[in-house]
Amino acid sequence: MKILVINTGSSSIKYQLFDMDDEAVLATGMLERIGEDSGKLTHITLSREGTRIKKIMEGHYPDHGQGLETITALLTDPECGVIRDKSDIFAVGHRVVHGGETFQTPGIIDDAVIREIEKNTPLAPLHNPPNLTGIRTARSIFPESPQVAVFDTAFHQTIPKKAYIYALPYDLYERHRVRRYGFHGTSHAYVAEKSAEYLNRPLCQLNLITLHLGNGASMAAIQNGQCVDTSMGLTPLEGLVMGTRSGDMDPAIPFFLANHLNMSLNDIDGILNKESGLKGICGANDMRVVLERAAKGDGLAELALEVYTYRIKKYIGAYAAVLGRLDALVFTGGIGENAPAVRERCCQGLSCLNIEIDPGENHQPHDGPRQISPPEAGVKVLVVPTNEELKIARETLKVILGGASMS
Ligand code: ADP
Repeated sequence: MKILVINTGSSSIKYQLFDMDDEAVLATGMLERIGEDSGKLTHITLSREGTRIKKIMEGHYPDHGQGLETITALLTDPECGVIRDKSDIFAVGHRVVHGGETFQTPGIIDDAVIREIEKNTPLAPLHNPPNLTGIRTARSIFPESPQVAVFDTAFHQTIPKKAYIYALPYDLYERHRVRRYGFHGTSHAYVAEKSAEYLNRPLCQLNLITLHLGNGASMAAIQNGQCVDTSMGLTPLEGLVMGTRSGDMDPAIPFFLANHLNMSLNDIDGILNKESGLKGICGANDMRVVLERAAKGDGLAELALEVYTYRIKKYIGAYAAVLGRLDALVFTGGIGENAPAVRERCCQGLSCLNIEIDPGENHQPHDGPRQISPPEAGVKVLVVPTNEELKIARETLKVILGGASMS
């Protein structure tokens, strides 16, 4: 059974085609700069024997429809294609960023679901509209294949009210749904399941703290397999220090910027989302660059690292208190998976919480899930590579075979 997973941005489409019989990736790729003259489609065909054929097609892709048609033509190409025709695609799974309170599970997309996703657009104005474009386009190109929406917010819908209500006038929640939602849910859910598998224990008995550290970064507190708190909020701006986002700060800072520096709301939005975080402190948002500069003695890069890892440490302490008992701390995402120095700093001085890292294991490169705490450690510290696309493909299959409903 072939499942196509699509992640649509405002000017991009990322995709992977899975054969769910053995969860093999048959093809993967990304179309960038849709609508511009300098559009670029990078398409990779993978064989089970490990060969990769890469094809790059540069040119003008006027809209998402044209882009997805070209991707489909490559997937079905008689020479380099991996399926005979469109009907080979059993289903299409879509990443949808914001499901609001409506969607607690993934489910099959129909017109009513599209209207509900539209209703949640004010909560994610930059993400939900392109996700909807992807859905509409895929529905018209693959009219015979069921389409499934998998929401970034859904995993966090088990968070109790005391953790998702802001101390604001309650009316803002009741009338406008202003509350914590959390994001990266597909990744947190995937690594939680993988950790349970690795530890050979049922997820429903595990208390975990998962750290998704990529360009965006978030943490989740998971109790008996269910999410009970997460660091991102109404939007992905809250919580940890990120590549270019500030994360937590005094909510009065925007007033200060407006009143004393005459900044507009747009300027402030730009600063907090695009000019802050690691980039704001030291000028670089790529963790590899920050680490390189810090190692060469750059004081601001060192400070950025300190602020970044100190924030994480505070959240680990907070979530350990929330959970009461902690079984494992799980690192994932580009930084979580690949930066031993960051992992080490996040866990330094946490032996009071039974959290310790074995320096040798921490620096050992490895493809799959692994333990980096000493064997006898009270809390297992794990590195678990995330795979959001595979999780979306699995959820898509599950929903279709199980005929799940949306909430
Ligand atoms: P996204 O959130 O866009 O999916 P990723 O999960 O791919 O991002 O993470 C991107 C981040 O991972 C970047 O900050 C990058 O510098 C960092 N990263 C990737 N590889 C390494 C590495 N070997 N060492 C340190 N950081 C790394």
